[in-house]
Amino acid sequence: MKILVINAGSSSLKYQLIDMTTENVIAKGAVERIGIVGSFLKQKVGDKEKVINKDLANHKEAITLVFCALVDKEFGAIQDMKEVDAVGHRVVHSGEDFNKTVLLNAEVMKICKKNIELAPLHMPANIAGIEACLEVMPNTPMGLVFDTAFHASLPKHAYMYGIKYEDYENYKIRKYGFHGTSHKYVSQNAIAYLKLEGKNSKIITCHLGNGSSISAVKNGVCMDTSMGFTPLAGVLMGTRSGDIDPAIIEFLTIKKNFTMQQAINYLNKECGVYGISGVSSDFRDLFTAMKEGNKRAKLALEMFAYQIKKYIGAYVAAMNGIDCLVFTAGIGENDDYIRSLVCKDMECFGIDIDLEENKMRKNSIRELNKPNSKTKVLIVPTNEELAIARETKALLQ
Ligand code: AMP
Repeated sequence: MKILVINAGSSSLKYQLIDMTTENVIAKGAVERIGIVGSFLKQKVGDKEKVINKDLANHKEAITLVFCALVDKEFGAIQDMKEVDAVGHRVVHSGEDFNKTVLLNAEVMKICKKNIELAPLHMPANIAGIEACLEVMPNTPMGLVFDTAFHASLPKHAYMYGIKYEDYENYKIRKYGFHGTSHKYVSQNAIAYLKLEGKNSKIITCHLGNGSSISAVKNGVCMDTSMGFTPLAGVLMGTRSGDIDPAIIEFLTIKKNFTMQQAINYLNKECGVYGISGVSSDFRDLFTAMKEGNKRAKLALEMFAYQIKKYIGAYVAAMNGIDCLVFTAGIGENDDYIRSLVCKDMECFGIDIDLEENKMRKNSIRELNKPNSKTKVLIVPTNEELAIARETKALLQ
């Protein structure tokens, strides 16, 4: 069985074709600058890489080019698109409508369109990607895998905000959480690796990348997560502020003469470790700047680690314990400095890592904790595309 995974963003579209018998990636690629001058597709099949420069006005043109690249006689991966058994789409928001992966049909599409208002930056692109696929391969089954679905299990006292109850009822203002596909994938891998009984486990997963979120996963089920109504909430991130006092927003509109939209754009794109350091949103650049004596870069890294620490403490309390702490995504898997800051002085939770092991680079699941420390600390590489393909396969079976 071959499954095509599509992750459509506003001006980009990433894809992977996966052979589900072996779980090997047959082809992977990305289309960048959709709707902007200078669009191009980059595809990798084995060690062959191909770049196609072609102006693409919209997602339909991008998908059509992806299909041409996949079946190209010279640099493609398959003979015919009929070889693709199913498509798995990443969809950011399920609202309160879906708590698991669903098969696409007209009713599901209608609900997705209704939920555009919950994620206006992401949902239109996700839907454009689905519609473009539908036009070109109308008879191929498609699974929709939602970023929010793993968090549908949050208890009500965890997902409600302290605002008027009718505003939750009327407008669905509540915590949804994001990165759910990754939190589910790495927590399940941790359970399997440690041979924990899924029904008796307390895991905290730290997905630390351009966007970062922390989740409490008890007995295999998500109990709480740091992102909220939108992915702006939680710890500070590359360019996102994370949690702030909401009254700051009005203060900003007065002091900086912002409209509400400008204030939210500022909190999404100009803040986080980038805003604090004034250097970069990339943690490699921040580490270099800190080593060169840049105090604000050092502060940004310390704030990031401190905020993660506080979520860990909160989630140990929420779960009444912790068996395992998991680091994943670009920073979680690669940044030993951040991991060491987060795990420093956490013996009260049984967290005690081997600093030499922490510095090693391996691209596989591994333990960082000292042999006799009470709590396991793992690096679990995430693979959202494989998780989406597995969910889609399970749906078809
Ligand atoms: P992601 O969103 O998961 O792709 O993560 C992207 C982020 O991971 C980048 O912005 C970097 O800050 C960070 N990152 C990637 N590689 C490294 C590395 N070797 N050391 C530190 N941070 C890294």
